[in-house]
Amino acid sequence: MTVSNVNVFGKLYVVATPIGNLADISFRAIETLKAVDLIAAEDTRHVKMLLHHYGITNKLVSLHQHNEDKASGELLEKLRTGISIALVSDAGTPLLSDPGMPLVKLVKEAGLDVVPIPGACALITALSAAGMPVTQFSFEGFLPRTSSARKAFFTERLNLTKTWVFYESCHRILACLQDMVEVLPLDREIVIARELTKLHETIVKVSLSEALTIVSTNDNMRKGEFVVIVQGAVADDSQHLLSEEQEKLLRILMRECSIKTAVALAVEITGQRKKTLYQAALLIDQEATNSAHQ
Ligand code: SAM
Repeated sequence: MTVSNVNVFGKLYVVATPIGNLADISFRAIETLKAVDLIAAEDTRHVKMLLHHYGITNKLVSLHQHNEDKASGELLEKLRTGISIALVSDAGTPLLSDPGMPLVKLVKEAGLDVVPIPGACALITALSAAGMPVTQFSFEGFLPRTSSARKAFFTERLNLTKTWVFYESCHRILACLQDMVEVLPLDREIVIARELTKLHETIVKVSLSEALTIVSTNDNMRKGEFVVIVQGAVADDSQHLLSEEQEKLLRILMRECSIKTAVALAVEITGQRKKTLYQAALLIDQEATNSAHQ
């Protein structure tokens, strides 16, 4: 069997599918999905819509985060018998915050071919329209779900100078921004890219404080799927750091009381901004957690 003169015998094709607009799929992806013997999909019901749209009637098998270790072994055995397989996720490029890594790793380790069929990816789509520096950027996937873990996450990136990008759901976008304003400078520029390639696509580039206002006051801005892009730290951010004396005091207070009390006492004693002390306290706390786990 061949696809564009390429032998597909026993190969694994990693096929990107649309992230909303069904037209965002390559000719090669459609050709491949038609030609392979089997399609391994994150959610077989979901992918059926796409396949139906393009008249593809291939056999489907499910590969999702809860079965992928077992299913990957079985798929490798099929590839070994000469069966060609396409891996797709619900949207965009497989493996990017989606299942597939164990399968691709296993197939490569077995010495078989893995062929990428490129296409849509939400983070790249958002970056391409953000107008933020992209020479270097950091992709962070989905953020932690609890507020304290998110704040620690933002604190760790406070002084990161490159652009960073993450995925967020409609259920947490507001809480996420509320945590961000507690940690990052309010004038930090961010891009909220919502419902990309879909009817209600919205891409706003604003300061962090404006973003919080927009998302908290407009119900529609809490609906759909989100990519958030954060500008890297600028030199000014160093002004927010503590003096040596202030940091020493904060560390002593944190040994004796909770972060909240330590910060409140440090504000009273030093006159330093609460936000600055809080950011520093989260960093110190994170440092302590990291060294406890080493
Ligand atoms: N593999 C996909 C990719 O290539 O982008 C990402 C899958 S991840 C499970 C799904 C998340 O990607 C969503 O929660 C959202 O954060 C982001 N995403 C996917 N499609 C999107 C879209 N059309 N607009 C904005 N964000 C999107």
